[in-house]
Amino acid sequence: MTARVLVVDDVEPNVRLLEAKLQHEYYTVITAFSGEQAIVKAATENPDVILLDVMMPGLDGFETCKRLKADPKTSHIPIIMVTALDQKEDRILGLKVGADDFLSKPIDDVLLLARVRSLSRFKTLSDELRTREAVGRRFGVIENLHYLEDGLSARILILEDDNRRGERIKRVLASEQRPLLMSEANELGPEGHASVELMIVSTSGTSFDGLRLAAHIRSQTATRNLPILAIVDNHERDKALRALELGVNDFIDRPLDEEELLARVKTLVRRRRYIEALRESVDQTMEKAVTDQLTGLHNRRYMESQLKALLERMQRGGQPVSVLIADIDHFKRVNDLFGHDAGDDVIRQFSERLASNFRPRDLACRFGGEEFVVIMPDTLPEDAMQIAERLRHSIAAAPFYIGRNREQLEVTCSVGVSVGNQVSDIPETVLKRADQALYSAKQCGRNRVMAQAA
Ligand code: GH3
Ligand code: MG
Ligand code: MG
Repeated sequence: MTARVLVVDDVEPNVRLLEAKLQHEYYTVITAFSGEQAIVKAATENPDVILLDVMMPGLDGFETCKRLKADPKTSHIPIIMVTALDQKEDRILGLKVGADDFLSKPIDDVLLLARVRSLSRFKTLSDELRTREAVGRRFGVIENLHYLEDGLSARILILEDDNRRGERIKRVLASEQRPLLMSEANELGPEGHASVELMIVSTSGTSFDGLRLAAHIRSQTATRNLPILAIVDNHERDKALRALELGVNDFIDRPLDEEELLARVKTLVRRRRYIEALRESVDQTMEKAVTDQLTGLHNRRYMESQLKALLERMQRGGQPVSVLIADIDHFKRVNDLFGHDAGDDVIRQFSERLASNFRPRDLACRFGGEEFVVIMPDTLPEDAMQIAERLRHSIAAAPFYIGRNREQLEVTCSVGVSVGNQVSDIPETVLKRADQALYSAKQCGRNRVMAQAA
């Protein structure tokens, strides 16, 4: 994967140097020589990562960062602040104004590439989720989820077997987060920690191998997305790199700087919550795309795609698929006599009874208006008839309730049944037969079940 990196520095040789290093690793580089230019290019060029110098005339790096993070068009782009080596306050301030990471000048090549890689990975993931969300909503453009998140009060698991060090980390974090200290790797069961939002792992533990543990967390389904912050002794550079390669999201050097620890933790939590919010939003859009809004049953489009797959399976030697269409009798009268809202009440209650009459693997859907379809995989025609009869009975057997006064109303339905068992069957042919059977049921006086063979 080659990411696009926007390099911002007022000193041209600095820009060229970074450009050369990044291009050597096949990154695409865009350049800007001031904060003002950076803001324009960030919005128009959509980079994956921004490397932002702090000391610049005009808008300095902090102000530029603040503005980029405040604009929904650019707030999702990760920013790495480039600070002078011993300006510790600058780094902390950078993270406080929303930067995602920092690097010190002179820039260490290996760290540069590791940080750029880790942040562009995050950007790729969030872009993918944002695109899926946009597609799900059938929007032409990606809507940025403008997500303001403080990154506080997160449940954080600290894995450190040196008790004195562990207690110190816990004490520092407790001012803003909800830390939990563990000294042994095997205390860790994924189920018990569903609410954990970040894991801090010491790579210098003696009773466990921090790197191995990080790799393990990454490989487990339950914890795959859990962010990890590694604590690394600052002379153990190769361990830090190894950790990043294994998918650790960030690391911090020991001796620990308390403010840096708080700031890095907050940034990771914020990023994690952003991704989770995106995921949830994607799930909801996907759910909406397959669900009927009035009844919560599956919609027609989804049902047809499932029926198609089941028919193909039957044609490859699988079991037949039975289908029924149920249509409420004289429903127009309900609307005419009691109003459209009462009609909706009936449709909703009908759906509830319908759903409670079937096995979980049957697929109940609203076909349209007051018509419903149920797909029954691996079901023989005679069984389908019985099931349909049970449904008809459960509708007719007890009255429906409509309106605020819960007025009682007798409702019946007619049902047509068909079976997909032909090599030539596609959803249309099977549904057509069921519809013909339904028509016969209506013709024969309603409130009954009829079948139509191929
Ligand atoms: P039949 O026994 O032959 O099925 O008679 P019917 O009156 O049920 O059938 P028809 O197809 O003539 O009328 C269906 C009515 O359902 C017409 C339409 O206005 C109404 N309808 C369709 N969708 C909805 C809905 O979402 N809510 C309400 N309240 N009414 C709906
Ligand atoms: Mg009807
Ligand atoms: Mg109808």
